[in-house]
Amino acid sequence: MGLRSIKEIFIVGHGPSSSHTMGPHFACDYILKKYKNIKHISVTLYGSLALTGKGHLTDYIIDLSLKDIPHEVKFDKTTVTEHPNTMTFVVDTNEGKFSENVISIGGGSIITIDNLLDTRIKEIYPHQYMTDIMNYCIEKDISLYQYVEMHEDKNTYDYFKNVLKVMDEAVVRGLNAEGYLPGKLKVRRKAKEMYISMEHSALGAKDVAMNVAVHSFAVSEENAAGGIIVTAPTCGSAGVIPGCIQYLRMKGVSEENIIKGLMVAGLFGIICKMNASVSGAECGCQAEIGVACSMGAAMIAHCFGKNTIDIVQSAEIALEHSLGLTCDPVDGYVQIPCIERCALFAIKAINAVKLAVIIPDDDIHVSYDDSVKTMYKTGIDMNAKYKETSLGGLAETIKPDD
Ligand code: SF4
Repeated sequence: MGLRSIKEIFIVGHGPSSSHTMGPHFACDYILKKYKNIKHISVTLYGSLALTGKGHLTDYIIDLSLKDIPHEVKFDKTTVTEHPNTMTFVVDTNEGKFSENVISIGGGSIITIDNLLDTRIKEIYPHQYMTDIMNYCIEKDISLYQYVEMHEDKNTYDYFKNVLKVMDEAVVRGLNAEGYLPGKLKVRRKAKEMYISMEHSALGAKDVAMNVAVHSFAVSEENAAGGIIVTAPTCGSAGVIPGCIQYLRMKGVSEENIIKGLMVAGLFGIICKMNASVSGAECGCQAEIGVACSMGAAMIAHCFGKNTIDIVQSAEIALEHSLGLTCDPVDGYVQIPCIERCALFAIKAINAVKLAVIIPDDDIHVSYDDSVKTMYKTGIDMNAKYKETSLGGLAETIKPDD
């Protein structure tokens, strides 16, 4: 097996959840394209989609996607399905009734039981694991960016230029927004207030942690409000990379180098997605914000001109020390702990790079692939309460007022 395009890690769309809003939206699109003369569609959501679909706006996005077609959305919270993000579409047409299961596998991608539906499924890289890629790059004396450039198509740089633009636009909207996020939690949008506090602080905008956090908050709040963001690798984790980008800009890194850094980050994201998971419902938050943190670390290390071993070790350290991170969004909303966590893990990505470059390259005991494999095994072993069901953790401790 090789790897698919890094483009599928960075998808532009509406928040708040790649698996719970983007995936169902793409599933509806698929059904509408496949079937003609539709009289009625019934969509049943199972597992995590049923348990947290309300807070994640799944029914809202299905209503929007199916437009004028008569439909109903059912939440089946008791039937256990093989994959936690399964949807059954029963499509009533003039030609007969058809039933189809679609799975939202994370990061906005969907599959049927038999086929990967996503049109971006083609494997374009010859390697599957980072160790092989790293060895290949060292042997050929090329950078990870050059490796990506060799295998992606010619439009990829422009694709990522647009990714950066959309991320920046989300930051601007987030920094100017006020009021409360949707839902019962009554979480106030704070990025603007935080920005003003930062400007009045001793270091002002030179304070790295504050500046990074403010930018992460801006995008994460925009995501929680259903605004347009870029998955990196998911919606819930979309605030991590923009925080890291702000750090790079504070350090004077050029826009061109940031775009290339995003492409290197994508390589780490697709390795996690294809060899493990980027779905909180499947593997907990280690698969979302943990992976985002490792992508951010790889991007920063690339932009600082670090060698391939240091870039890979930066990503490895970030992922290794995110292992076990649970997914427990309060009341099913991608707000608590997601927003603060994005900010904190953007800062962690910076520190992972600082640690990686001082650890000697000849005494590395855990490879990136080891961490990815461990993340997946840990995720599979994790109790379902901690996998985007809002049945455990903070979601159990904190109950919003009705
Ligand atoms: S806790 Fe993490 S995995 Fe769960 S919804 Fe929030 S960001 Fe996604």
